Amino acid sequence: MGLQENIEAGAHVAVKRPALMRQQAFIAGHWCDADSGETMAIIDPATQRNIGHVPLMGGEETTRAIAAAVSAQRDWERVPARERAAMVARLGQLMVEQADELAVIMTLEQGKPLHQARQEVVYGASYFKWYAAEAPRITGAVHPVADPGKHIEITKIPIGVTAAITPWNFPIATVARKLAPALAVGCAQIVKPAPTTPFTALAIAHLAERVGCPAGLISVLTGDAAAIGAELTSSADVRMLSFTGSTAIGRKLYADCASTIKKVALELGGNAPFLVFEDADLDAAVDGLMTAKFRNMGQVCIAPNRVMAHESVFDDFRDRLREKIATLTVGPGLDDRDQGPLATQTNFDKVRRHVKEALERGATLVLGGGPHELGGWFYQPTILTDVPRGCSMTCEETFGPVVALSRFANEKEAIATANDTPYGLAAYFYTSDVARERRIADRLQSGMVGANCGAIGTPAAPFGGIKQSGIGREGSTFGLEEFLEAKYICRPLITAAD
Ligand code: NAP
Repeated sequence: MGLQENIEAGAHVAVKRPALMRQQAFIAGHWCDADSGETMAIIDPATQRNIGHVPLMGGEETTRAIAAAVSAQRDWERVPARERAAMVARLGQLMVEQADELAVIMTLEQGKPLHQARQEVVYGASYFKWYAAEAPRITGAVHPVADPGKHIEITKIPIGVTAAITPWNFPIATVARKLAPALAVGCAQIVKPAPTTPFTALAIAHLAERVGCPAGLISVLTGDAAAIGAELTSSADVRMLSFTGSTAIGRKLYADCASTIKKVALELGGNAPFLVFEDADLDAAVDGLMTAKFRNMGQVCIAPNRVMAHESVFDDFRDRLREKIATLTVGPGLDDRDQGPLATQTNFDKVRRHVKEALERGATLVLGGGPHELGGWFYQPTILTDVPRGCSMTCEETFGPVVALSRFANEKEAIATANDTPYGLAAYFYTSDVARERRIADRLQSGMVGANCGAIGTPAAPFGGIKQSGIGREGSTFGLEEFLEAKYICRPLITAAD
């Protein structure tokens, strides 16, 4: 890039850069640089231009964040639940008030269209509001006569200092689902956001500071994942790790947590099936698929990865889908079209590789099929049919705006194919037969099922997977339990004298 272009790019970013965009990490209530002074550049996926820097931190800074969290934890867990909840609710409210600024930051670093970034901010804030309402309702139990002569009392206590490691596809939602319940039940949290999308997490720390969050209760560390991860997993002071990301990294962190017997919650990868039965409302199924698949350019852990339609409606469904997908507009996230660029070079390369491999092995191209004419990391909304079994696209997440559509002959085959994966995060199906609706919902091996529904995320529901898609849940009261321990106190039963 020439000097003139560089200056213009800088001017463009300066105009767009909101005041909330912090370029330092947040430890023990202070904004800091790395001890080494080193930084990492953050790139706008739409232009691949540098939009700022964050500190490249490692083990030493992590140790300091843990010490600050231990100290903050002692006081925070003693704060009455309603006072804690009030702060959590204020943070959610401030996020909503600053939604436009936060959305610009997210779009700059992640690439998604501005309206989707704004929706994610509001969705993330809803977790703070929901947990602020729910956490004060946590109760225990008393069993005075369960065991002769003993009084059994059970209380729920905060688990202690927690760590959160998050991915780049939903930089606010994935942090909110961990931070909101942790703070609400009385836990400190150290957040390590993805290296390509740290600014949104840092902005939340900034807002937390503004609502009076005690120093050390929240730290946000940017930098060397392996060094930060090693310190977080090996520290006996960190009692729980909540991780969202790939199954491969989740497996490693799970093993690393064994040395200190830490509780883990793992939200990992998926390979969601989407089944369209012969009695489905095809327009509703197309709309459901558009919602579930094309949000965030398909970079969604619960996005349908294997779309299957009954052979009798296959052609009709494909044609209706092609008509809808062909209308999708593509452009930089700040221009707020339907689709932005893919978020990283690695993901762009993966999507390209999956499509190329499927076509080479005999899949039929219906729409798109390659990089978009805008260049860079833009990719065309794509439909392929009859992707042969065994192609990467059928067994790995493609994480892009690509629909792989295949046909099935009967219910038995549909269920067997849908469940033929080591993953079990989300599954979707469309049918208008009530009995079939129950049957299929029961038989799909998946933590979450969309039955005639393409949008399933809400703070009131438990989000998470079975099989190799994870352990534990986020959202709902199940998400609170991840940050709690049951404590049982046994006392001699004192009976009143006559
Ligand atoms: P990833 O490569 O597993 O990385 C996730 C996070 O882990 C990043 O912050 C990463 O930092 C960090 N990390 C990597 N190695 C680490 C280590 N040794 N110690 C500590 N941290 C480490 O996943 P991703 O590519 O960012 O995200 C995409 C994946 O997330 C997909 O598989 C998707 O399905 C999954 N996901 C799941 C859910 C869900 O709720 N189930 C939601 C969203 C996304 P570095 O990049 O610096 O290594």
